[in-house]
Amino acid sequence: MNAVLNPDPYADLRRRMVQKQIVARGVRDQRVLAAFERVPRHDFVAPYRAAEAYEDHPIIIGENQTISQPYMVASMLEHCAIRPTDVILEVGTGSGYQTALLAELAAEVFSIERFASLAESAQRILAHLNYANVVVSTGDGSLGLPSAAPFDVILVAAAAPSIPEPLVAQLREGGRLVLPVGAENEQFLSVVRKVNGVPYSERLYGCKFVPLIGAHGIPH
Ligand code: SAH
Repeated sequence: MNAVLNPDPYADLRRRMVQKQIVARGVRDQRVLAAFERVPRHDFVAPYRAAEAYEDHPIIIGENQTISQPYMVASMLEHCAIRPTDVILEVGTGSGYQTALLAELAAEVFSIERFASLAESAQRILAHLNYANVVVSTGDGSLGLPSAAPFDVILVAAAAPSIPEPLVAQLREGGRLVLPVGAENEQFLSVVRKVNGVPYSERLYGCKFVPLIGAHGIPH
C-alpha cells in the first residue's frame, strides 16, 4: 500500500470539525461550510495549542482573550447572510480566525481590535495566508469605523450591554448587524436588520462572549 502524503496534516481534523460540530448542529450555508474547510484554524493559535485548534471549545489567545468556539463562529456567519460583493466590519479581531473566514466570504473586510498586540499578530498571519482583502486596525470598535462606512454586515465578537448606536448608523440599508447583547453572565446573540432606514432587532439564543470594552460598550 502506498503512503499518501497529505500536504496539510490538519485537513482531516478540519473536515471532522465541520461535520461533527457545525453541520451536525444545523449550519447549512454551503459557502460558510466551504470557508471552514479552507481556513487553517491551527495557524491562529499558539503553536503548542495547534493540536487543540479543531476541538469543540474556545481557546485562550493573548491578552486574556479567546478564539471563539468553531460552531459559534459558524452560526454567527450564517446569520450574517454574506454575499460575495459585501463590505464587512468586524469588531474584535482577536486571533484573526473569523477575519479569515469573512475574507473568504466577502469582497472587503475591515477589522478592528482594541489590543494592538492582537491586531498586529492577526494582520501578520492573514498576510502570510495571502488574504489581500482585509485591513486590520487598532481602536475602539464600539464606535464603528466611520471612514469605511457604510457596511453591508457588521459582526461583533464581544458582548455589548446594549446595541451600540454608531454601529446601527454605519449599517447600509438592508444590512445586518450580528452581535451578542447582554450582561457578563447572560447574553443573547442578536441580529439587527436595517429596513427603510429603521433597525429591527431579533434575539436568537443565549451565548457567552468576552465583554465589548469601549465608549459604546462596557466602560474601562
Ligand atoms: N473572533 C475572534 C474572537 C475574539 S474575542 C477570534 O475568533 O479570535 C473578542 C475580541 O474583541 C478580543 O480580542 C477583545 O480584545 C476585542 N474587543 C473587545 N472590545 C473591543 C472594542 N471596543 N473594540 C475592538 N475590539 C474589542
